[in-house]
Amino acid sequence: MDSSAAFDILIIGSGPAGAHAAQSAIASGLRVGMVDVGQTDTHYAHRVPSLPFTQIRQSDPKQKEYFLGDNIEEVFDKKRKAGTHLTPARYHMIEKMDELFPTRTHNFFCLQSCAQGGLAAGWGGNCFTYEDCELKKIGLSSNRMRFFYDEAMAEIGVSAEPASDLYPSVGTFPHALPALQIDTNTESIVNRYSNNKEWFSRNGFCLGKSPLAVLSRRQDDRGPNPYFDMDFWADINRSVYRPRYTIEKLTREPNFHYEPGMLAKSFHETTAGEVAVHCQNIDTDHAQLFRARRLILAAGAINTGKLALASAQAYSPRLPLLCNPNYWVAALNWSQLGIPARDERYSLSQLTATLRTSNDPDYVVGQFYSYRSLLFFRLLHDMPLPPALGLLLLRLISSSLTVINMHFSDKPAPQHRWLQLKKGPTADELVLSASYTPNELTDRENQLRKFLRCLFKLGCLPFRIVRPIHGASIHYAGTLPFSEQEQPFSCHPSGRLYGYKNVYIADSSPWRFLPSKGLTLTIMAQARKVAAEVSSELKNETPL
Ligand SMILES: Cc1cc2nc3c(=O)[nH]c(=O)nc-3n(C[C@H](O)[C@H](O)[C@H](O)COP(=O)(O)OP(=O)(O)OC[C@H]3O[C@@H](n4cnc5c(N)ncnc54)[C@H](O)[C@@H]3O)c2cc1C
Repeated sequence: MDSSAAFDILIIGSGPAGAHAAQSAIASGLRVGMVDVGQTDTHYAHRVPSLPFTQIRQSDPKQKEYFLGDNIEEVFDKKRKAGTHLTPARYHMIEKMDELFPTRTHNFFCLQSCAQGGLAAGWGGNCFTYEDCELKKIGLSSNRMRFFYDEAMAEIGVSAEPASDLYPSVGTFPHALPALQIDTNTESIVNRYSNNKEWFSRNGFCLGKSPLAVLSRRQDDRGPNPYFDMDFWADINRSVYRPRYTIEKLTREPNFHYEPGMLAKSFHETTAGEVAVHCQNIDTDHAQLFRARRLILAAGAINTGKLALASAQAYSPRLPLLCNPNYWVAALNWSQLGIPARDERYSLSQLTATLRTSNDPDYVVGQFYSYRSLLFFRLLHDMPLPPALGLLLLRLISSSLTVINMHFSDKPAPQHRWLQLKKGPTADELVLSASYTPNELTDRENQLRKFLRCLFKLGCLPFRIVRPIHGASIHYAGTLPFSEQEQPFSCHPSGRLYGYKNVYIADSSPWRFLPSKGLTLTIMAQARKVAAEVSSELKNETPL
């Protein structure tokens, strides 16, 4: 076994949690190491020209290579688990997923990223800050969280409106860059909302531009969004934030060491007071040991839970699992039917809506997309029409098609939603299961009905509702919940994993509640806070 030098802090994972924990720890001058699967795309990104979608469609003879990928069958292969948003340029995220993170499940969509930057190598950039009451429900202390939110936002660059009906329920963004320009389809929806504000307010519905981790102005080495509608295919100008940009910056610091190609298998505390992390080199299969005074787990809620179970060789406990249920609603914005849309646009969420359906401070959140560049032909494939007729119809409606991704909150239900470690034929596997009680399903359908009513009022006629398998939102949390009392597979409010003196968690594993609003900006802020507190504790300690 190879043994590497020891660090003050070792971090597992380079996603939003790992990247932001590392940036915070490095600032304190400590020696920080990071082990990570860390795959990057070397195959597709350089092939995508820096041109608008429509121009590429009209003129690039090689477009098939990157729009469909080398193997066209994969586009429709459900087993690949690549959701619509994972275009060929993002395939590296899941290239070795089944081999490195084997899972068994029949009712949960489990997407685990092998990429440098984690799942956020392909995220949609929607940013939210949580209110104090939500942080409390999660188990996070609101103390100094605003400071860490600000630090995270300064790093990623958030574009948002200065004032919005959505604030403060989706957050507040005092230092944001100007909001991105929405497209013509969406402008007409906003106009209808503005003309009927009283009705919407009476019905608990708010609408505004989506706060996004996408630059509308230059910031350091990243440029503004070019409105090419290519954001799912390429990272043009680096305008959409990816954690790998933070990692690239950090690797220039003398006190940071990044070790990609490493799969962490387990950890233990040594008698010398260090944490030892057992890794497998993905290319050579060699075992490698890393040592540190503190370990920060940032492998994503599912993999961090798995690492805790594997380190304890625990095959019988079931850990709880949180994930936002989500529905897709395809709607026609009838006033735009047949009217050509403005070409310049970005591909990510244009608008965000919140709907409060009861006195509970809990929202249903909907994100509005104008669906065009994103594998439109997949819709064609799903249409119950002959292809020629389906194509004609899609062409007619494309400028007025609005797709809304609705998210619902989730709370622990350990009987119904859980994961467990099992010995597999060659390696340990995770078994995942998720189901909902009839009451939960009824509540959600009631919320959907109210949301659809608001869509009608906005002039959007829903024609298809997709209720994907649980897990499809890819917003995971809750596997090692915060607890005031010491108990196995749970976490002290400081982020320390019970049963260990020097192991901390920076991702969403300890959350006891998952708000319907996207979780990632809060993961970044929490990771910064955990790392800052661990660093300041270490600085007051005599080195080993
Ligand atoms: C298509 C898509 C769109 C999304 N859109 C949004 C959005 O708009 N807004 C939002 O808030 N969220 C969004 N998300 C979710 C968001 O990406 C995740 O919440 C976020 O990435 C979680 O961050 P994390 O650091 O906790 O974990 P991850 O991003 O999963 O990162 C974990 C890292 O750990 C590494 N790792 C895991 N296990 C090991 C191991 N054993 N050894 C070594 N390394 C390991 C992985 O390779 C990865 O680098 C989206 C996700 C996807 C896929």
